[in-house]
Amino acid sequence: MKIVVCVKQVPDTNEVRIDPVKGTLIRDGVPSILNPDDANALEAALELKDLYEDVAVEVLTMGPPQAAYMLRECLAMGADHAYLLSDRAFGGADTCATSTTLAAGIRKIQDVDLVFAGRQAIDGDTAQVGPQTASRLGLPVVTYVQDIRLEEDGIIAERNMEDGCEIIRVRRPCLLTVIKELNEPRYMTTWGIVDAFKQEITVWNHEDVGLDAADCGLSASPTQVLRSFTPPAKGKGERLQGTPREIAETLVSRLHEKHLI
Ligand SMILES: Cc1cc2nc3c(=O)[nH]c(=O)nc-3n(C[C@H](O)[C@H](O)[C@H](O)COP(=O)(O)OP(=O)(O)OC[C@H]3O[C@@H](n4cnc5c(N)ncnc54)[C@H](O)[C@@H]3O)c2cc1C
Repeated sequence: MKIVVCVKQVPDTNEVRIDPVKGTLIRDGVPSILNPDDANALEAALELKDLYEDVAVEVLTMGPPQAAYMLRECLAMGADHAYLLSDRAFGGADTCATSTTLAAGIRKIQDVDLVFAGRQAIDGDTAQVGPQTASRLGLPVVTYVQDIRLEEDGIIAERNMEDGCEIIRVRRPCLLTVIKELNEPRYMTTWGIVDAFKQEITVWNHEDVGLDAADCGLSASPTQVLRSFTPPAKGKGERLQGTPREIAETLVSRLHEKHLI
């Protein structure tokens, strides 16, 4: 069984700070990491590899050449092969163009039984790429997956919703987007790290995956970010005065004024 895991290199948003004078995000020196949900997706694939024979785990990313470093991290965790879709033509992609490119990469890998993606990337935050990629490939998709069981020709997936869960049977090939509740990603092993630096990463440009430059990146993106800015700081807090009863009454009337209750 061939499993492809879509992984994205993202800035560690826990480390991003705001410049107090300019009010802009300080990205300098911010480390790049494997997107957290994607680490869960990779762990799910590796657990299937631990359980069953003949499982190959391939990791795929679209990104700049330095994304190869994150791919080596995935190899050190236990992935069998890594693919990097890297080309100037892919630059400025929105989710639509990103999923077209990822789908072309998955088609080129061939004979894929199962595709995993994270629910969401912590930088773009759209949660659109997984379902869009499935749609480009004509595959069924289950999102928000928190548990999986392999069946003969399908998957039983538990899908987490705000107020409950769904158990879904989906035939393979299919695409699943996963959440952190699914598992605890393993650490890289020392020998895994050594081997990861010996392994070759397959790098593909738009021609390699059979796409015209016009079908990738900014030129194939129906949305455009016109402006991005740091949200204004929240207003100062206010300490209510009086007896506990007066404070409670003032609080309730303020919440009423703001139509919060
Ligand atoms: C006009 C425009 C221009 C943009 N220009 C750029 C740009 O120049 N550079 C830039 O970095 N971003 C750019 N973006 C942001 C870009 O759209 C998103 O980073 C990208 O499409 C993924 O969306 P997301 O981060 O919301 O992923 P989500 O949909 O939240 O991700 C869900 C899952 O999809 C998979 N996934 C997402 N992206 C990738 C990927 N690249 N490779 C492999 N798997 C992936 C992962 O498994 C991830 O967990 C641009 C967006 C717009 C609208």
